[in-house]
Amino acid sequence: MLFDAGDISALSPGNLLDVTEVFVSHTHIDHFIGFDILLRTVLRREVPLKIFGPANIINCVEGKLRGYTWNLIKDYPLEIEVFEVKGPLLSQASFHASRSFQRVDGADREFDGILVEDPLFTIKGVELSHQIPVMAYALEEAFHINIDKALLVERGLPVGPWLSAFKKAIREGGPGTSVFEVAGRQYSMAELMDIARITRGQKISYVTDIAPSDENIEKVVKFASGSDVLFCEAYFLERDRDRAYERHHLTASLSGRIAREAGADHLELIHFSPKYTHCVDEVYSEAMQEFRKET
Ligand SMILES: [Zn+2]
Ligand SMILES: [Zn+2]
Repeated sequence: MLFDAGDISALSPGNLLDVTEVFVSHTHIDHFIGFDILLRTVLRREVPLKIFGPANIINCVEGKLRGYTWNLIKDYPLEIEVFEVKGPLLSQASFHASRSFQRVDGADREFDGILVEDPLFTIKGVELSHQIPVMAYALEEAFHINIDKALLVERGLPVGPWLSAFKKAIREGGPGTSVFEVAGRQYSMAELMDIARITRGQKISYVTDIAPSDENIEKVVKFASGSDVLFCEAYFLERDRDRAYERHHLTASLSGRIAREAGADHLELIHFSPKYTHCVDEVYSEAMQEFRKET
């Protein structure tokens, strides 16, 4: 999953090929310019690409697709499905490579806040304002698997790719008969279960480009409530508060307040104005001071 598709040049083609869902906050160019690179990478893929976003996202995807010529992809299997939140409704349209990405509109359905429901996790979205509609997203795991590293060492089990396969088998509630080869020996799932600690699922929230209005703050605090990790913009410093209002962005101090009021465990700051490149420490300290404030 990708949360926004801005400058994604740091991601390898292998990483991008794994992306099946993109959750777009809004289509300002710095949040959507990476769509073309992603599309180019997954063009021959059989697994569909799903895009979620605020009002007008279907037109934006259509506009991007209309910007290229598609006469040589008739036998490509890729389908792009786009889901657009419009108040209480979720609109849907699809674009199939075999039809030169011509838009096919689906039926609207009711939007109850849930965008993806999987046995292992849920993705929720909420519409906020950035002068234009903007979406914030939260991923909630059904449960979390921790590996007891001390016990691994004690039992002489090396860390390796087998651990991912083991976790996957637990998540899928696989049969207890799965066999894992670890350092040349075979283990049954039951023999390994003591190294896994199953705990409460984690919640990760992603909030960016929201206006510093009371309405937004109230909504986002509720939405991000109980996050283990809150990724939140801190575009301006409090000393440039007027600019924050003009540009419909948060200040670092407001990000800290949102994280504190939402009871987040950890605040991960993102998206700073380039004017603070020389004083990024100030952005962090302003946000963290507010976040850690005793109330
Ligand atoms: Zn932005
Ligand atoms: Zn923006």
